[in-house]
Amino acid sequence: MTDTVIAATTLSKRYRDVLAVDQLDLHVRAGDIYALLGLNGAGKTTLIRMLLGMIRPTAGSVTVLGAPVGSSGTGPWNSVGHLVETPAAYPELTVRQNLHLVRRLRRITARDVVDDVLERLDLTGYADRRAGALSLGNAQRLGLAKALIHRPRLLILDEPTNGLDPAGVVEIRTLLRDLADRHGTTIFLSSHLLAEVARTATRIGVIHHGRLLQQLDAAELPDRLRQRLLVSARDLPAARAALTAAGYPCEPVDGHRLAVTGPDAPRRSDDVATVLVRAGCPPTELVIDREDLERYFLRLVTEPGADR
Ligand code: ATP
Repeated sequence: MTDTVIAATTLSKRYRDVLAVDQLDLHVRAGDIYALLGLNGAGKTTLIRMLLGMIRPTAGSVTVLGAPVGSSGTGPWNSVGHLVETPAAYPELTVRQNLHLVRRLRRITARDVVDDVLERLDLTGYADRRAGALSLGNAQRLGLAKALIHRPRLLILDEPTNGLDPAGVVEIRTLLRDLADRHGTTIFLSSHLLAEVARTATRIGVIHHGRLLQQLDAAELPDRLRQRLLVSARDLPAARAALTAAGYPCEPVDGHRLAVTGPDAPRRSDDVATVLVRAGCPPTELVIDREDLERYFLRLVTEPGADR
């Protein structure tokens, strides 16, 4: 078969009058770190729950690792690890006891998988601590340890860095990359932060109002960000007239600058400066303004068809 690890076809979920997921098609390939990006309420958790067979789709179908995800919870779950919303653990049991419980539930006889996963998640020092006394970051790590104990081929994570401090975010990012690079684990995760996932993901899908608006390779991102040249001059109307006459369309921004909007403008700042000098209104400032990732993401979801 192909190397498709997750395939969803015209998947929908309706809750009374809310269409949480709307005829969504999704393909995740082996080895991808696929980030599903969306604002609050976009439908991420609903989609993930359907991928995991936790809720039944209103329409459409899901295949995971080549096996259909059935309405009675059937699926290739021995090869899948997941972390959805707040990781639940038995608070009175230690970290180690919690992991042994998961080991037994997964019918793994080798006891050393627990030490192994404790080490991989940097939890060895907390092994004998009560799970209920863990910091949020370590509780999240315990959740990941439970998801990884059986060395799954596919890991599905809903907002895995939610609530973590910056150091925790970096740790999780490093761990996920390591899993993908060294163990070939395919990872599907959701997030509402493009800047964060852009550092980890190889592929990004943008979900909004339950629809997949856009899918792209993370490497394509820099080319998608808009650039414009911002110009200040003492006589702005004269500068604008000169630039327009020279074939550089521009518009006033923030009261004291012009945005030169043509796609070539950022690469031709020297020519723009020459035009202004020749017209007798030399620039007092020339800046290339690059869209940041979050602005790009907001543009995608607020302006339909806005990509470029
Ligand atoms: P967040 O980042 O806030 O968790 P999300 O992208 O995961 O958001 P979902 O939780 O999937 O979004 O919700 C999508 C839509 O479906 C929202 O409008 C939500 O209110 C609605 N919804 C989700 N679960 C239910 C439910 N059990 N009953 C009714 N409506 C629901």
